[in-house]
Amino acid sequence: MDLKIGTCTLELVTGDITKQQSDAIVNAANSRLAGGGGVDGAIHRAGGPSIMAQTRQTYPQGCPTGDAVITGAGKLAAQYVIHAVGPVWSGGDRGEQESLASAYRKCLDLAVENGCGSVACPSLSTGAYRYPVDLAAGTALSTVISFLKENQKPAVIRFVLFDDPTYAAYEAALREILE
Ligand code: ADP
Repeated sequence: MDLKIGTCTLELVTGDITKQQSDAIVNAANSRLAGGGGVDGAIHRAGGPSIMAQTRQTYPQGCPTGDAVITGAGKLAAQYVIHAVGPVWSGGDRGEQESLASAYRKCLDLAVENGCGSVACPSLSTGAYRYPVDLAAGTALSTVISFLKENQKPAVIRFVLFDDPTYAAYEAALREILE
């Protein structure tokens, strides 16, 4: 499913984030930037050790929740990996929604600062961090739509959703926002 916002396009697809040809791909990182499973494991496996070497050297303190940092992309087709730290879900009254929105905004700020015309994002926080996907989808999409309306870039933001239930949740959330 695609949505035009001015000259920009928001896309929802199913797929593997490591296979994306976009200028930047977003990693669902943890705050120590220490490597993990899910998206993070897949990106470091496919991209090779230079990505972790760069995060260790450039961001030895890690990255706080709700923030993001940028590195090269090693062997991946993308030019950059933007490591975003979404919140761990703990019931919804610990600022999770604001942290999730902030993580996406920081990713897009970094993408624009680094001249990226296209960015691929996974569904931050909805795997190991247990954020309910229907809630996360609404926040993720409304945040990127606001960003695109305000900034008119990057030209393409593609949500790359790993499985059909996640895709369905994002599609439903997008339809709800459009109503
Ligand atoms: P978090 O720790 O932020 O919850 P995860 O990586 O555990 O991050 O999961 C986030 C989402 O990414 C989940 O929906 C998971 O199914 C999905 N996912 C896992 N591997 C990939 C991949 N290679 N490409 C895209 N999405 C992926």
